[in-house]
Amino acid sequence: MAEIPRMSAYEVAAGQFAKGAASIDLPPEIALILAQPKNELIIHFPVKLANGETRLFKGYRVQHNNVMGPYKGGMRFHPDVSLDECKALSAWMTWKCALQELPFGGAKGGIKFDPNAYELVDLERISRRFTHALGANIGPDWDIPAPDMGTNAQVMDWMMDTYSNMRHESRQSVKHSVTGKSILCGGSEGREEATAWGLSMCIDRWARDRGFDLAGASMAIQGFGNVGAHLASALSRMGLVLVAVGDHSGYWRNPEGFNPYKLHEHVRACGSIEGYPAGERIRREEFFASECDILVPAALALQIGSEEAKSARCKLVVEAANGPTDLEGERILHERNIEVLPDILANSGGVVVSYFEWLQNQRCERWDRNTVHDKLKRRMDATLDTAFAREARLGSDLRTACYAVALERMRDLYERRGIWP
Ligand code: NAD
Repeated sequence: MAEIPRMSAYEVAAGQFAKGAASIDLPPEIALILAQPKNELIIHFPVKLANGETRLFKGYRVQHNNVMGPYKGGMRFHPDVSLDECKALSAWMTWKCALQELPFGGAKGGIKFDPNAYELVDLERISRRFTHALGANIGPDWDIPAPDMGTNAQVMDWMMDTYSNMRHESRQSVKHSVTGKSILCGGSEGREEATAWGLSMCIDRWARDRGFDLAGASMAIQGFGNVGAHLASALSRMGLVLVAVGDHSGYWRNPEGFNPYKLHEHVRACGSIEGYPAGERIRREEFFASECDILVPAALALQIGSEEAKSARCKLVVEAANGPTDLEGERILHERNIEVLPDILANSGGVVVSYFEWLQNQRCERWDRNTVHDKLKRRMDATLDTAFAREARLGSDLRTACYAVALERMRDLYERRGIWP
């Protein structure tokens, strides 16, 4: 796969923040606080693997801001995890939670390694040892991890179980220390699909607002994991056709359309889209130049830079991933009248349902799937109303409008609470 030299994720996050802050004249003393995370933790921890070998792993947890409530954010297992990336991802979580009016701040973390290269027994040791090493730096009222790239409900179950076993006085009452768990361990119905549900609600709203007919429209999706695969199915139910798809194993095109359900089954069985018996293999550059209506990056950050933006042949970019478009890429997309549904709005369905899971655990309740879906829909609709109204009022792009809403809420809270001591 081609190497892509470009600005860092944190530079992108800082540029977006600066533009949002300027749109509401954010007071400099508040901008100063929000420009850097509160805490940056790097932990080297040893794990004795099943084969007897001991390896040292590098884990991160960055806590960006908690003025709205406990830090909240995913745990990523990927070879590219870095301090810079966690800083950016934690800031995006802060804005996302503020935009959705959740009682949470922003955090992000992970371990720099390739989970695909390890057996389940070792993944359990690594996940538990990292949770133990984080110790009191996480907790249900302090910092609440969730799944992200390379992690899933099983990893969250291990983290919750490890944390619970470290808290002897309240073992049964700390299920809400982690969200994105399996249903058996206290997870919420619909959490796995929640990010895709939220994304499809945003796309539906965008289409109605812009008078665009989604029936028969085409889509290209990069990343066919939890978010990408569920989104492909949700959008195909709305009449869209998946004409190009890619993941860490490569990129494929099929003008007749892939069957997203069968492709998902294949990925579950084989670990990637490689070997799926339909379509034609294409290069990464060709994928980003695919002729389609909606292009969805649903994998890593920094995927759409100037080259991809210049070659894009779509009407809308939907940021299912966090930070997939860099500043130059976004500028060129706008210049070419290609709209962007920004990450902090588009993929916020996941953290909204994580919040529902956190509430259910505390109340010892279990909501059914329809209830979760309806509650998510109501919240997404309210946030979409606010975001589109602000976009029209500011005459700006949707990202800047979302930042304006989120930063205004944080500004008002800081001004009310003050900075102490
Ligand atoms: P996942 O691990 O389930 O899937 C990741 C996908 O990205 C896989 O298909 C993988 O093959 C692909 N990928 C990895 N490296 C790649 C590369 N170099 N080139 C192309 N594809 C590559 O992760 P996920 O939970 O689906 O998360 C995907 C994105 O969505 C991430 O950016 C994550 O931060 C964001 N997100 C996830 C959630 C959630 O609830 N899981 C919520 C909000 C945002």
